[in-house]
Amino acid sequence: MSRAVLSLGSNLGDRLAYLRVAVDGLRDVLVAVSSVYETAPWGVTDQPDFLNAVCIVDDPARDEWAWLELAQSLERAAERVREQRWGPRTLDVDVVTVDDVRSADERLTLPHPGTPHRATVLIPWLEIDPDATVPGAGRADALLAALPDAAKSDVTPRRDLPL
Ligand code: ATP
Ligand code: CA
Ligand code: CA
Repeated sequence: MSRAVLSLGSNLGDRLAYLRVAVDGLRDVLVAVSSVYETAPWGVTDQPDFLNAVCIVDDPARDEWAWLELAQSLERAAERVREQRWGPRTLDVDVVTVDDVRSADERLTLPHPGTPHRATVLIPWLEIDPDATVPGAGRADALLAALPDAAKSDVTPRRDLPL
């Protein structure tokens, strides 16, 4: 069995449509998909707000590299355009975890190194898996509790935007 957690993000163009491109491309392997959340950008803050969601996917035939390839093919399907790191993009698909795999390879670092301190990933993930754990870093609910309130209150559910 290979179960992966993927995070989706878009802050350019028709953001919801790009998230739907991703969810559509995952439909054969989809176990659960979170609500859509809207978040002000971090890092490079002079750019549009992000829409984020998290998917749990399962496919016994895929290893972690195959999940990365699928993530990148979804980005290409959304005609990803992006000029700067952490700048606006039509679709960003990150591989958050794959089973208990831990990897320091820079082409595929697992779990994704941003996970423990990103409310944009932890909040949607906990919505669909309250027992979520980050290999090597512990329970997602405890990681979320450790984040500053400002980081959490910034992540707003958009239940008016169904995936
Ligand atoms: P961040 O990774 O901090 O969220 P980003 O998503 O903007 O930043 P990208 O430009 O999308 O970064 O990715 C750069 C590279 O990261 C990709 O070429 C990919 O090979 C590599 N990478 C390493 N680990 C992962 C992972 N777990 N999921 C997706 N890409 C990864
Ligand atoms: Ca990312
Ligand atoms: Ca990425």
